[in-house]
Amino acid sequence: MVIIHYPLAKPHIGKEEERAVLKTLRSGVLSMGPAITEFEKRFARFVGTKYAVAVSSGTAGLHLALIGAGIKEGDEVITSPFSFVASANAILYVGATPVFTDVDPNTFNIDPMGIEKKITPRTKAILVVHIFGQSADMNQILALARKHKLKIIEDACESLGATYKGGENGIARMVGTFGESGVFAFYPNKQMTTGEGGMIVTNSKKLCALLRSLRNQGRGKNMQWLSHERLGYNYRMDEMSAALGLVQLRKIRFLIRERQKIAVWYHRFLSKQACGIQPLKVAIGNTNTWFVYPVLLPSGVNRNSVVERMEKRGINTKPYLPSIHLFGFYKKRFGFKKGDFPISEEVSERVLALPFYIGLTKNDIGLIVDALTESLA
Ligand SMILES: *Cc1c(COP(=O)(O)O)cnc(C)c1O
Repeated sequence: MVIIHYPLAKPHIGKEEERAVLKTLRSGVLSMGPAITEFEKRFARFVGTKYAVAVSSGTAGLHLALIGAGIKEGDEVITSPFSFVASANAILYVGATPVFTDVDPNTFNIDPMGIEKKITPRTKAILVVHIFGQSADMNQILALARKHKLKIIEDACESLGATYKGGENGIARMVGTFGESGVFAFYPNKQMTTGEGGMIVTNSKKLCALLRSLRNQGRGKNMQWLSHERLGYNYRMDEMSAALGLVQLRKIRFLIRERQKIAVWYHRFLSKQACGIQPLKVAIGNTNTWFVYPVLLPSGVNRNSVVERMEKRGINTKPYLPSIHLFGFYKKRFGFKKGDFPISEEVSERVLALPFYIGLTKNDIGLIVDALTESLA
């Protein structure tokens, strides 16, 4: 018997990555060397910002982006409850309060219609999460931010390379370039990886200098080793990770195209089934770079038993993502309860992420979709 195993995700690593990491390892310069400088320069160029600052994780990047925006104790930051927990946690790190507002039922991104009602005199910023590989509705969000003088910080950790086409000129722009800063992550399941790692992008020279200091123990401008000018952190990315990131970045258009190809296969096979499984919708004007491949199961289906049946066939699936406000420590601290953000909750209850990584063939996808429809029956 052939044993098939489809994990949920895996990175796409080749010989070039191995060679690059080994070369850096042998160079003896393992931190704050040439690889990081080059990686930052090329990353900024790819995304379309003036500066990029590499950090040890996407979460670290979000933390520094919030400090950089001057968010502090007593401030409120509006954000999405349908996200990986890190986006809301980063708001807690700086002592501010995450103020959730519900999501759009089609894209699962923050619904701009709900934002204005949440604005108070304490609101300082909107932390926009671009979930599952596509941009939030930025035109409306930017207009609200302008009207109420709020800062925009983007959590683009799931959406590297995704574009949004809006405004009168209709020019497509990459996510991460709309706010005062945008944050990316390179965990192994993201569009590209450095193992652990993240990047903050910005067009502000001043903010860039502050972020470079903050990630490096608060060191002063010339980064002298024992000159600390502010409370900083060790959020540096190491050289091996940067060397890996440089090779992955060189291939990023290929990596994204491959993801999009697999997503199209999923979409085609899913549109042939009559079980009521809904693929993720891509908003008009958006390109999706597909972080995971999520589907909504029909309401009333016992998702746990679907996961179990798929598991028995060697296919990993995952309820992804739970709504942040229903985690125990958020409920306890802020008094959230079921029903507070009904759309986010319904998506969380019905969503299932399917195996999604480069190397899956059209045949694999057909097999996975067949297994899924059979598991529903
Ligand atoms: C992956 C991710 C992050 C940060 O991830 P790290 O594991 O810290 O690199 C932040 N926000 C979202 C939405 C993510 O998916």
